[in-house]
Amino acid sequence: MTFGDGTRVVHTGPSGPGSSLGVPSPVAASTYRLGGPDTYGRPHNASWRALEEALGSLDGGECVLFPSGMAAISCLLRTVLSTGDRLVLPSDGYFLTRQLAASYEVVEVPTAGPYPSFDGVRLVLLESPSNPGLDVCDIAALAEAAHAAGALVAVDNTTATPLGQRPLELGADVVVASDTKAVAGHSDVVLGHVTVRDPELAARLRDERTLTGAIPGPFEAWLAHRGLGTLDLRLARQAANANALYDALQGKVAGLRWPGASADPAHLLAAKQMRRFNGVLTFELPSVAAVDAFLAASELVAAATSFGGLHSSLDRRAQWGDPVPEGLCRFSAGCEDTADLVADVLCALSHALGLD
Ligand SMILES: *Cc1c(COP(=O)(O)O)cnc(C)c1O
Repeated sequence: MTFGDGTRVVHTGPSGPGSSLGVPSPVAASTYRLGGPDTYGRPHNASWRALEEALGSLDGGECVLFPSGMAAISCLLRTVLSTGDRLVLPSDGYFLTRQLAASYEVVEVPTAGPYPSFDGVRLVLLESPSNPGLDVCDIAALAEAAHAAGALVAVDNTTATPLGQRPLELGADVVVASDTKAVAGHSDVVLGHVTVRDPELAARLRDERTLTGAIPGPFEAWLAHRGLGTLDLRLARQAANANALYDALQGKVAGLRWPGASADPAHLLAAKQMRRFNGVLTFELPSVAAVDAFLAASELVAAATSFGGLHSSLDRRAQWGDPVPEGLCRFSAGCEDTADLVADVLCALSHALGLD
């Protein structure tokens, strides 16, 4: 029998007689007596294995965990690229990926396109929806064009989450993600993963992780696995909150984006390739002072970077160097009661815009 996502994220652990309903203990040894599945803590442990199985099954491929989203992305680049290789990156995607890739020949393209020919390109790394602009690209069509040119296709799936989008089913070869955001979901762990279709590439990523020694802690894997069990529930509330905020903010702020809204320019494409929407929206306030006034007036919205946690938070992206307007806010709708959050945001907005 095939189960829905809510069931799948709950039932991701062992199920035999005597097994725990909780995620099995995160305490791993560094060294094991030989003859069992584990030998030494740097190449493998039971906590990684359990979470890699869970995320791999949701993504539809073989998952390799990393200590952060950036560790996942940098291991992928090191593993599949040689110096001087050409790589396509989103100009509006996660800014550290562009910094990291500076030693390759990078072609930067806005997520919404237009895309150039992929001739001579080794890797096309897409990000959809992009962070922070929330633009969307047609993953299936781009994967087909990139494959025709002999390129490998990876998708940064952080914003969407494994429940929101399955890039491997859309034709991509690789998923990279930061699980620091909605997957772990409680603002208390940094973690990332790569999921690939090709077991040989998975083995190369694992070998590179073992060799370079940048490994996730078993306790971090356990925390993320514990969080994963409620991802379906959290996304439902976060998306409901984002939807209500979108409706409440429409006409009051510039540049309002949430791909889940039928009025959003990316909605048709997003609805075609995404399985569900989430709590991340963006909008623009007129100035840095207006953002500061909003945050000072709000009781519920934290001034914080990152997103996908239980708490609603707002991040003015230009402060981190994103090439966006000074007042552009990425808003992460949390799990608060919808009515409370909408009332708080509208009140803070009227302070920010000097209406009261
Ligand atoms: C946060 C983020 C990353 C980096 O992940 P870390 O876990 O912070 O290293 C990469 N891509 C996107 C889209 C992100 O939002």
